[in-house]
Amino acid sequence: MSANKPPFHADTLLAHGGGGFDQATGAVVPPIPVATTFVRDEDYALVSGDHLYSRDDNDLFRKTEALLATLENGVDSRLFSSGMAAIAAVARIIKPGGTLMAQSGIYWGTTLFLRQHCARNDIALVECDASDIDTLRDELAITKPDLVWLEVPSNPYLKVADISNVSDLCKSAGALLAVDATAATPLIMKPLTLGADLVMHAATKALNGHSDLLGGVVTTKDSTSDAWDFICTERKMAGAVMGSFEAWLLLRGLRTLSLRVERMNANAMALAEHLEAHPKIEKVLYPGLPSHKDYATARNQMTGGYGSLMSVQTQGGKDEALKVTGALKLFQRATSLGGTESLIEHRRSIEGETSGIPENLLRLSLGIEHIADLIADFDQALAKI
Ligand code: PLP
Repeated sequence: MSANKPPFHADTLLAHGGGGFDQATGAVVPPIPVATTFVRDEDYALVSGDHLYSRDDNDLFRKTEALLATLENGVDSRLFSSGMAAIAAVARIIKPGGTLMAQSGIYWGTTLFLRQHCARNDIALVECDASDIDTLRDELAITKPDLVWLEVPSNPYLKVADISNVSDLCKSAGALLAVDATAATPLIMKPLTLGADLVMHAATKALNGHSDLLGGVVTTKDSTSDAWDFICTERKMAGAVMGSFEAWLLLRGLRTLSLRVERMNANAMALAEHLEAHPKIEKVLYPGLPSHKDYATARNQMTGGYGSLMSVQTQGGKDEALKVTGALKLFQRATSLGGTESLIEHRRSIEGETSGIPENLLRLSLGIEHIADLIADFDQALAKI
């Protein structure tokens, strides 16, 4: 069976790792292409037909990229060596003298990188709460950015910008729209279908799902655009390519993406509901809760769940929050998200004083464990404060 063409469901495509088999050996799992360079014949034609050098591409990159492009309803994807390498490639679309508008309160690494990148390259950076559409409309009209960068849902505040509305505004303003949809995965939200020009994921997170590789991916719905041409050239020339072993691990991780996403989303929803009713919790930030300020938008543009990322604010301050994390026995105290194991992080300890993140905020990434164990772990930890 070759499951690489529609009308197969995304779950089917994923289960078959993009479909097909290795033509040379008949193996159901693709080999890891380790060669960096490819031979020419006596007439100097490439023996393989098109492979020249593995910084450009190889069969495994192409297979993985094709699968990811299909999942996004896009037409082409490029893998990068990390999520940040993918973000950097998109940011470099803007030339010196241009303007970048970025959503405020997003992944701190992205914010820091964009601030430094823009300052060094004479690019005006406008940080704006894109989940407030009126503010965004005003800022767009005043600053006229070349590119708008959203993160949906945002990490760690779980704000959900309305991608269709933002896309309409960007089109009228002549700005490109790029969305980091890492916390959603392409299975529950498709920014390209909602109007974005580019969608990006840290493949490090749920796409791979096993906390054992760094990777990034950018996908387009228009492979003829200047922006896409730039990104492809940038990947090749700046050289932030994914390693072949990482691409192989990613493709293997993707085989179980739909099962993992289903369980992680269900766990997140159940824990969010439980903690919202807990007297030791001040607030739960999770877009699947009707109490969340962006719930209506999330319900509209996400299907099949609301993701595995959430933040909670414990009663009290930093001491209480750290006491809870310290008392957890099952949640691992580690940064990152999207793995099979549940993680917890005190973001203030990571971001420092300057980001303005509340001292009592804990960010949780829900894994695929049994929900009863996760709830019991949190309950016993909360009982310590
Ligand atoms: N985007 C989001 C939303 C993230 O949470 C992260 C990392 O945590 C990144 C991008 C960066 O990805 P990477 O660590 O693979 O560079």
